[in-house]
Amino acid sequence: MSPFWDVIVIGGGAAGLMCAIEAGKRGRRVAVLEHAERLGKKILISGGGRCNFTNISATAVNYVTSGSPHFCKSALARFTPADFIALVEKHRIPYHEKKLGQLFCDFSSRQIVELLQRECLSAGVQIRLNCKVAEVARAEGEGERFLVRTSQGEFTCESLVIATGGLSFPKLGATGIGYKVAEQFGLEMVKPRPGLVPLTFDSADLQTFAALSGLSVDVIASAGEFSFRENILFTHRGLSGPAILQVSNYLREKEPLRLNLLPDLSALDWLESQRKSGRTLKSLLGLRLPQRFAQVWSERFGSARPLEQLPKRELETIAGRLNNWEIFPAGDEGYSKAEVTLGGVHTSELSSKTLEARRVPGLYFIGEVVDVTGWLGGYNFQWAWASGFAAGQAI
Ligand SMILES: Cc1cc2nc3c(=O)[nH]c(=O)nc-3n(C[C@H](O)[C@H](O)[C@H](O)COP(=O)(O)OP(=O)(O)OC[C@H]3O[C@@H](n4cnc5c(N)ncnc54)[C@H](O)[C@@H]3O)c2cc1C
Repeated sequence: MSPFWDVIVIGGGAAGLMCAIEAGKRGRRVAVLEHAERLGKKILISGGGRCNFTNISATAVNYVTSGSPHFCKSALARFTPADFIALVEKHRIPYHEKKLGQLFCDFSSRQIVELLQRECLSAGVQIRLNCKVAEVARAEGEGERFLVRTSQGEFTCESLVIATGGLSFPKLGATGIGYKVAEQFGLEMVKPRPGLVPLTFDSADLQTFAALSGLSVDVIASAGEFSFRENILFTHRGLSGPAILQVSNYLREKEPLRLNLLPDLSALDWLESQRKSGRTLKSLLGLRLPQRFAQVWSERFGSARPLEQLPKRELETIAGRLNNWEIFPAGDEGYSKAEVTLGGVHTSELSSKTLEARRVPGLYFIGEVVDVTGWLGGYNFQWAWASGFAAGQAI
């Protein structure tokens, strides 16, 4: 007979560990199966090694989902940023707010993994490392609903939690097993794609702007009706930086990325007011934007003549582009550089309260494998904690 557990959690990342802790505290016999040689590899590298573990202002508006925008409200309300902060403080982990409500460890993200490990230990959770799940099937025995086939043999359980994350950063052990299980049980999926990801220039833009690699500019970046004021960073292939990662979640194919290069003023009013200054566009832009950028951008879109010699129509076109520069990226840098995976198990398939599959009693999906993706800035971990907690209360 295969060893039986009340609950098996596949994936020892943020969501899986939180879920296991809560279920263990409720007296459930819980096993976490993790194919890596250690827990929480993504937590370890997150936030530049300091783990941006939550955002104090996380609410449902900070998440992208193809289903109802209300879906994540219930879980987020029942395990809030304050609840995770209480856990961090209980374990005496020093932390600070970096900006925009983003909380980071003062020292190391290892402390967050250790917190979760200690909580697992005190909740009696069994952890199996180097245990790769190959397949899931229905079980036959009484009280057993699922059979899990792994590199360490077969296990059965009453409740099965899929916490295997998305496809981003494959070198850290991402696999598509969660999606495979969802499809196997007939659940609707939203096609996965890279999120919070740098964008690449088309060949014309690359030729002009690759020279700016390493330069950062404060802008308002927009896609659709979503806008973020933060830095963009020119790379040798395209654009990155927080503003770009944020809008990448909202960018649709064939739609432009829009950049307002002068977020604090009307470019037309400014150019008009400077018309008699004797300056060229390049020298004027250099007052408000990095010199190197002013030069390259003016050469591509402006004129070398002094502003007063430019016809009004030309001035208007330049001003329009300064406040609303439309770029059509060639694509993105893919999963190897994406912080998260958009898409996943369609939220309409899951109970928003428990994350249980409506049509498959006992089967739960939590964390990034679900079609709920947060903004950059601690929101994705908050979803992992909250969805893990919600399922942990129910299984
Ligand atoms: C470089 C980087 C930095 C990030 N920084 C931040 C940040 O600072 N703040 C923030 O909020 N978010 C950050 N994120 C996003 C965040 O890490 C994820 O959203 C979060 O880890 C998702 O948690 P999860 O538990 O759903 O999945 P994961 O953390 O990915 O955990 C899934 C686990 O399942 C295991 N697994 C997969 N397949 C199998 C299998 N077949 N058998 C057994 N185990 C399996 C994996 O090894 C993994 O341990 C970052 C992501 C990256 C890539």
